[in-house]
Amino acid sequence: MSALDIVGDDLKTELPSGETVRFTHLDYAASAPCAQAAAQAVAELLPRYGSVHRGTGVRSQTSTVAYEVARDVVAEFVGARPGDQVIFTRNTTDALNLLARALPAGTTTIQFDGEHHANLLPWPNVLRLPTPASPAAAVADLRAALGRVDGPAVLTVTGASNVTGELWPVRELADVAHAHGVRVIVDAAQLAPHRGVSLAALGADYLAFSGHKLYAPFGAGVLAGRADWLDAAEPYLYGGGASAAVGARPGELTWADGPARHEGGTPNLLGAAAVAAVCAALLIADRDALHRHEQALLERLRAGLRTVPQAREVSIFGPDHPRVGIVSLHLPGHDPAQVAHRLGREHGVGVRAGQFCAHPLVRRLTGTDRVEACGRTGLLRASFGLGSTIEDIDRFVSALSTVLG
Ligand code: PLP
Repeated sequence: MSALDIVGDDLKTELPSGETVRFTHLDYAASAPCAQAAAQAVAELLPRYGSVHRGTGVRSQTSTVAYEVARDVVAEFVGARPGDQVIFTRNTTDALNLLARALPAGTTTIQFDGEHHANLLPWPNVLRLPTPASPAAAVADLRAALGRVDGPAVLTVTGASNVTGELWPVRELADVAHAHGVRVIVDAAQLAPHRGVSLAALGADYLAFSGHKLYAPFGAGVLAGRADWLDAAEPYLYGGGASAAVGARPGELTWADGPARHEGGTPNLLGAAAVAAVCAALLIADRDALHRHEQALLERLRAGLRTVPQAREVSIFGPDHPRVGIVSLHLPGHDPAQVAHRLGREHGVGVRAGQFCAHPLVRRLTGTDRVEACGRTGLLRASFGLGSTIEDIDRFVSALSTVLG
């Protein structure tokens, strides 16, 4: 097995006919299955772990080293610059909420309404722009918005849409934002599993992603970026670890500096080690080959879907815009939840239906303004990654065709 092989790739499921088939997982965008590298990192620590940063015994010392090595590996994965910090969080939602609370007072948050709720909802003083129809319009809309903002501002934008898989023009947006002295936050939850996420190359001041979408188990995420605002902010969680010295009287205390300031409580060593192990494996992987494989699957999927007239692929920037391995379908006249249920039960194909925590965008893409109407319809999403095969794609297309009749 290689480090990026999927654990449990041969999972079976029984169909109502009694036939047992290999389960086809096409819901990577929600949670990706575990890579061998992550499983191995956890297995190696299980017999040896202790509490990070606290004890003097061999368990604690081993764990402290493993935790800080994990931080260093993640720093390399995101191309951390001098003055950047890597903080372990629970997931992307946690990372973005942490950063939202660390923004200097009075900061306006500029965002487009196509964001996942994790990047739509945590921010203060929001200036929300409608999702644009093209990358050029995104840049023009940002430029116009910056002209209307008085005082400090940040832009927060997703790297790749969790609904359509399309890449947002992060670099172009960042150039415009930086020209106005505005920092850029990138929600890389869907980008990191599919593309390199160098802070510098993206033009990002901050980056957030989740371990469970990056082939590690649940419970660990990452916030990386400029240390100054993080060091100046109140700790995200008050408690041990975040505090350097506490006096007898309430309020008599000194907060810790560095990542510890925002990692209150006992940290998730196994989670951090698992994420870092996948990052390390991706750092030395042939990313071009992985990319070519993903694009081949994407082409196969889209060509297959063209033979299913009841399914219409949705897109923000147009069908030719580059995207990662995520495709969402509008199924007029069909209930996507029912279709997804039948794909799972009758065909052993796991996909997702609904609005994918991106209600404004899905409403826009399905052409409905009514929240409740969208709730009944929504979209059907297939998403894939490492471990996905042409056979998975063909099974999905064939099963979808059968279910839609
Ligand atoms: N951002 C995007 C683009 C996502 O797709 C998701 C999850 O689907 C999130 C943020 C939130 O991730 P998590 O639930 O791991 O916090």
